[in-house]
Amino acid sequence: MIEILTQYLQKNHFSHFDLKAVLFDMDGVLYDSMPAHAESWQQTMEEFGYTSTEPLEFYYHEGRVGSSTINIITEREFGRKATEEEIKKIYARKSELFAQYNQGKIIPGIKEIIKFVKSHGLKPVLVTGSGQPSLLDRLDTHFPKVFTPKTMVTAFDVEHGKPDPEPYRMGLQKGDLKPNQAIVIENAPLGVESAVAAGIFTIAVNTGPLPDSVLADAGASIVLHSMKELLEKIPEILRQTKTITV
Ligand code: CA
Repeated sequence: MIEILTQYLQKNHFSHFDLKAVLFDMDGVLYDSMPAHAESWQQTMEEFGYTSTEPLEFYYHEGRVGSSTINIITEREFGRKATEEEIKKIYARKSELFAQYNQGKIIPGIKEIIKFVKSHGLKPVLVTGSGQPSLLDRLDTHFPKVFTPKTMVTAFDVEHGKPDPEPYRMGLQKGDLKPNQAIVIENAPLGVESAVAAGIFTIAVNTGPLPDSVLADAGASIVLHSMKELLEKIPEILRQTKTITV
């Protein structure tokens, strides 16, 4: 663990950690919502006459804003960008199906993680590319008083979605944080890329069907497999960050 933390500090030109916050992604980290996303994307694209997608693809796009995903697939399928109208219609249909399919299940163990983080004086911050009202509106029900507008970055706050570093940079900015004052919990390759590009120590928890190597290749310092595993490892990680200097 010391080696992994040292590598991060050296690469990002920090002499030490000064942890004050944990930045959480939403889909696949707080909510077990990715199967519903993949299913609603797949069905929507089929309804709109696209033939080249499969549900697994949407795990690779996870974290992008919807318009960007639609553009990439439209360019591949039809060799052109999607029109504004297409984007609007496709995204509306996808959101409609998602609201129907998503059951609002939370990821097992995430409440314990948030509790642990708070009990260690660290502030939880949400950084998501999502603009789905069906999840954002329910955050306060599932995680009462944890995330407020001041500690949330959503699709409505940023110009460039993940994998651009802007969402995580804005998460730092909202919390008045430097990159060495936070750690990120992510589950998706583009989210990991975004966090790493923002210079933040990034732990991936692989809650989906992609291989671990995809998350490691995206730049995650640690790849784990469940919140339970994270809960076992996080006390040691926090302890190490307090003493390590390079
Ligand atoms: Ca995610």
